[in-house]
Amino acid sequence: MTLKKNTTEKYQGFEQGPIRPPSEAHSLLVRVTRNCPWNRCTFCPVYKDTRFSIRPKDHVIKDIDSVYRGVEVIQKTAREKGNVSPTEIPIAAENGDSLDPGAYSAALSWIRGGMRSVFIQDANSLIIKPGDLVEILVHLKTRFPWIERITSYARSHTIARISDVNLKAIRNAGLNRIHIGLESGSDTVLKMTRKGVNKETHIKAGLKVKRAGMELSEYVMPGLGGKAHSKEHALETADALNRIDPDFIRLRTLAIPNSVTLYDDFETGRFEKCTDLMMAEEILLFIESLNGITGMLKSDHILNLFQNLEGRFPEDKKKMLDIVRRFLAMTPDRQCVYQVGRRFGYFSRLGDMDNPRRLERAEKACRQFGITPENVDEVIDELMKRFI
Ligand code: SF4
Repeated sequence: MTLKKNTTEKYQGFEQGPIRPPSEAHSLLVRVTRNCPWNRCTFCPVYKDTRFSIRPKDHVIKDIDSVYRGVEVIQKTAREKGNVSPTEIPIAAENGDSLDPGAYSAALSWIRGGMRSVFIQDANSLIIKPGDLVEILVHLKTRFPWIERITSYARSHTIARISDVNLKAIRNAGLNRIHIGLESGSDTVLKMTRKGVNKETHIKAGLKVKRAGMELSEYVMPGLGGKAHSKEHALETADALNRIDPDFIRLRTLAIPNSVTLYDDFETGRFEKCTDLMMAEEILLFIESLNGITGMLKSDHILNLFQNLEGRFPEDKKKMLDIVRRFLAMTPDRQCVYQVGRRFGYFSRLGDMDNPRRLERAEKACRQFGITPENVDEVIDELMKRFI
């Protein structure tokens, strides 16, 4: 694919893209590209019907400068008045220019979040010229020298094509963590879901990121293989991660909203979705098969069945396995109440079922909506669509 920059594009003001990883909730979002240059993964709803584009480097620099001015004005106002209005945007003192409202509000939330981290958007920022990315990063660090972490999403396919020298230069300029949507290590599942990358490229890219001295966060999608490939998905994904040994493995369970391509296969029965019980069995096999690694497993997504399924390998492996085993050992009625309580937000972990008030609310929801072990997955599918 040839990617051309729109050199005639007029600056329209500060921009932010639609998503960031949950771990970047307090980060300043700096949009370098718009949307996803691949945009074909069958499970992904985020950039449907959008066009990919690279923002001119100068526009990104202007965004950073606008946030810088916003930070300056907010800090000055806070020093003088003791409080800052989130709705009234002041005039920048030095030259009388109005502040960019988007940049002002981004600056305000970033200050509240501690101004320690920045997330570069959108889906695959490393697709821009390495030299341009380095310039943007250097400018960020010049404006905000105290930033501790700069991170970005990137596709393995893109990283695998960047030279080690360029990746190191990007690292040295400040990008110190990359989030990759690995999703699966199974070539069957990757092909089936049109991820546009295979297991070997995932491994190559992961190892390159680590060689460049960046932290690596790999997203895994439980359930992506469906019933047919659940076991292969678990085993091959664990094998890929054993060979990469990323700093973070993050779980983000499959959901199938009406807007994704996979929905048609789901509706016609070509893709059979795993039940929560099967998903738990898949996760058990996956964690059992993770060996020789030292990173953290994180379960920081609302779609996940067990929010406390977190820990460092190898020391917390048994603790994590015990969580899943405990769920699998429960009676179908208890499992059903947990599933409902989790999806309604009453539970985040199995231990929450010991709280009588929370348990009563989950049981009441089951009664009210007629949810039983027989229909619970169907009802939950509908609920999960709301969180995508
Ligand atoms: S590469 Fe990422 S953002 Fe792009 S379509 Fe696939 S999952 Fe979505």
